[in-house]
Amino acid sequence: MKLATFTHAGSTRIGIVTDNGIIDLAAAKPDLPTEMIAFLEAGDAAMKAARSASGSLIPTADVILEAPVLKPGKVMAIGLNYGDHVVESGLETPEHQIWFTKAPSSIVGDGADVLKPAVSDLIDWEAELCIIIGKRARNVPRDRAHEVIAGYCCGNDISVRDWQLRTPQFTLGKSFDTHGPLGPWLTTADEVGDPHTLDIKCFVNGEQRQSSNTKNLIFDCFDQIEELTKAMTLEPGDVIFTGTPGGVGGAMKPMQFLKVGDTVRVEISKLGALENTLVAEDTTPQIG
Ligand code: ZN
Repeated sequence: MKLATFTHAGSTRIGIVTDNGIIDLAAAKPDLPTEMIAFLEAGDAAMKAARSASGSLIPTADVILEAPVLKPGKVMAIGLNYGDHVVESGLETPEHQIWFTKAPSSIVGDGADVLKPAVSDLIDWEAELCIIIGKRARNVPRDRAHEVIAGYCCGNDISVRDWQLRTPQFTLGKSFDTHGPLGPWLTTADEVGDPHTLDIKCFVNGEQRQSSNTKNLIFDCFDQIEELTKAMTLEPGDVIFTGTPGGVGGAMKPMQFLKVGDTVRVEISKLGALENTLVAEDTTPQIG
């Protein structure tokens, strides 16, 4: 099942993506929560009810797709998690998982503008498989990690390289507004099957820049959940960016970065494609 958060006729709600349009769950199953985190918190019963929904179709062309989770409680991201990206970064394969956060306010959906900030010209792409957590999780061993995953989607860990690397903490350079595109929708874990067999590609203005497969993850999805839940409770709707393969702009010779007007497309097997275009930031102070 493919679960989308979408806006139609002025209201934002969740639905099921089908070949014939989006089943509007608010109309088809009015007892279900209409917001993704509340829906995930409602657990297996809500998921089962959604699977039985039919009718109430809205043409896909008539909706705006939003990020599947509009405001995740946490967005955790791992660094240096594909061998070719470690090599292109000139670094050693990490002994421990390298975790940083992206601000939840960086999340946007498929088709949303990505802002080119005035303060940097070093804006880079990172195609990533993203996990969306479905169940509250703490101290989850690797062999049970699959139980807490609601599903997966494409992500783009947009990175402001100078801001990322000029201090020991990545957080600010990874957290600019709109620099966490996520989508186009959540594909449930049962439909994906093994998450470690998926082709992952990134294109900039139609030119391929990254091409790998999630079998090449150094720490796989289940390792990541085991490690994170040793430290913190993961909650429904939390998002994990699982790392990017080789082919980022900062490692190209010469280096290449995104410019206003560039379109970045992330494609992952079974999950669809996520496409966003860079637009110049408005630097007018905003207060209140
Ligand atoms: Zn990344």
